[in-house]
Amino acid sequence: MVDWSGGNDRGPTPKKDAIWVCAARDGVTDAPIYLRNRQLAEEWIKAFLAEEVDAGHRVLAGFDFAFGYPVGFGKALTGSDDPFAVWDWFAQRVKDAPDTNNRFDLAGEINAMFPGIGPFWGNGRKQDVPHLPRKGNDRSGHGLPEKRVAEQEAKGAFPVWQLAGAGAVGSQVIMGLPMLARLRAEFGRALRVWPFEAPDAPIAIVEIWPSLIAKAVTATMPEGQIKDAHQVALLAQTLSRLPPARLEAMLDVPCTTEGSILGLDQVRLLEEVAMAPATPPPLKNDCFAMPQGAHWTPVDEALAHLRAQLRPVTGVENLPIALAAGRFLAQDVQAARAHPPAPNAAVDGYGFAGPAEAGVQRMPLIPGRAAAGAPYPASVPQGSAIRILTGANLPVGVDTVILQEDVTATPSEIAFHGPLKKGANARKEGEDMVAGQTILTSERRLSPADLGTMAAAGIGRVAVRQRLRVGVLSTGDELRDPGAPADAGQIYDANRPMLSALIKHWDYTVVDLGRAPDDRAKLRAILDKGAADCDVILSSGGASAGDEDHMSALLEGTGSFALWRIAVKPGRPLALGLWNNTPVFGLPGNPVAAMVCALIFARPALRVLAGGSWTEPQSYQLPAAFSKSKKAGRREYLRARITDGKVEIFTSEGSGRISGLSWATGLVALDDPAQTIALGDPVTYIPFYSFEP
Ligand code: AMP
Ligand code: MG
Repeated sequence: MVDWSGGNDRGPTPKKDAIWVCAARDGVTDAPIYLRNRQLAEEWIKAFLAEEVDAGHRVLAGFDFAFGYPVGFGKALTGSDDPFAVWDWFAQRVKDAPDTNNRFDLAGEINAMFPGIGPFWGNGRKQDVPHLPRKGNDRSGHGLPEKRVAEQEAKGAFPVWQLAGAGAVGSQVIMGLPMLARLRAEFGRALRVWPFEAPDAPIAIVEIWPSLIAKAVTATMPEGQIKDAHQVALLAQTLSRLPPARLEAMLDVPCTTEGSILGLDQVRLLEEVAMAPATPPPLKNDCFAMPQGAHWTPVDEALAHLRAQLRPVTGVENLPIALAAGRFLAQDVQAARAHPPAPNAAVDGYGFAGPAEAGVQRMPLIPGRAAAGAPYPASVPQGSAIRILTGANLPVGVDTVILQEDVTATPSEIAFHGPLKKGANARKEGEDMVAGQTILTSERRLSPADLGTMAAAGIGRVAVRQRLRVGVLSTGDELRDPGAPADAGQIYDANRPMLSALIKHWDYTVVDLGRAPDDRAKLRAILDKGAADCDVILSSGGASAGDEDHMSALLEGTGSFALWRIAVKPGRPLALGLWNNTPVFGLPGNPVAAMVCALIFARPALRVLAGGSWTEPQSYQLPAAFSKSKKAGRREYLRARITDGKVEIFTSEGSGRISGLSWATGLVALDDPAQTIALGDPVTYIPFYSFEP
């Protein structure tokens, strides 16, 4: 969808009233694109259309200006009833450069061709233009209707005659039709213009009017976004989400020389589709509610609860695959074409029609060769061979390749020892992937290899979840920023740098929410800001039920609060809740407990909120280099590292000893029941690197 403009160059920084373009595919938008002037816009649009048509896609290209004038104008201007005659008339006469154009003069010249005064009016310049009145009321006797039928039906639409003043559209029609005329010339039969022609071509050009969905635009406008950008994006998304039959019905209108506005008789449907949220619905208020009881919740039960209750909270966007590594797929991905797309050589050598018999084989060598990207254009006669290089498509008549190292060649003949199976050293079409095959599934985190796989399968863009924004917050009056002066009653905020780095390592966006003092009003203000800026908040401290546990107290007031007493060591309660619909994970303040709870509980939870599948960290059974007896009831995580193939644990289990986290390379997990571990017994070791995003 294109939001066109009749004005001058708008400069390098994105602004309103410039040209904005946005593409949507399968209901998901690309990022809106700012184009500062018409010259750049025309270039961009041409390149975009050419690329999409080359890729075999169909494009519904909408432009927000009238494709025709009120009935009678074209005939009077050009002598013809063909609406394209008006397009060509303007294309021949409009002079356009980023900072100057002749639209007012041209409108005056047209007015001079009609009786009376008008129909065009409005002049954005200081200087008067011959035959162009400044006011609409100054016109009379020009004999043309004020509005097209479409504008009579579209409430609030401006007439095409008005060239200047707030809301005027006349200029962008004059400055737009020549561009459309050039697109027609450029794309020929591949482009059809609705409703003058049936839209049965790769490109269908349609007239749009974003104000049709004005209510939805206002209702869904993100803060700080430029309205023009949001408007084209929302309209593109809306049209792209329409069921094909509804779009087809929308396109089915009578053809007149005036043109029409797409969706004019389907405003309710468009509004409805436009209002359907692009971001998933918020989590339910009771999503953290655990069955009540005096018992401590086992770790596995707590994890199962998170897994069952959490949903993705981020929107979906289309990204070029090169930018999509680390993102979670929002849809399954199908191969756009076969890989390999055609049978080709797997080695450098000589191609012929196989098989080859046992014993010495001699074959005449035909001139020429087949190379990757330079296929041999003719067929190879039965019994002859041709020079062929790795990746070259097999020429007609070739299905087998002999490795060059196994061949004695002269300029006219090759000799080698058979036998060789038919099809040897050749790759079959689609042997790796066939077109249409699902190659990657939704919720997968895209790896570097996935980008390669998608590229090979002909995929240029992919629908992924927006990056999760995680707010990180520390709480407590005793905290000071690292490196700042601190007295003996104060300690340094260790959790925020630690948790922030963890979030960054998991490839989410960190939003630093700072430190909150033990003050309810201040914490409330920080939560308000955090909920507005983030998809989820990770806080530490103040999460129990004590006097200074303000996080718990505030969350309690939301009706969504749950204090999870999990049977885990280290770890005190986890405080969970929704602050203005944004999930809050209140981790224990104690750094070791904060880290362990982040790894065990927050990691999989954030992954699901970000649109990923639930995963468990990879663990290994290794002999213990320690002995220990453990009571029943709690899952214990010990700071551990591997020495000589055995797992040793940190000397102290004191959960304040943060240095033990640096000493360790992973955790030992001791299961809930009582157990006695002797030297050499197998224990479960989870390396830190297993807590992957
Ligand atoms: P709390 O959960 O707020 O009662 O805190 C538990 C313990 O963790 C107390 O000793 C706090 O001083 C300490 N603590 C809380 N937040 C942090 C932090 N960000 N960095 C280091 N220690 C902390
Ligand atoms: Mg505290």
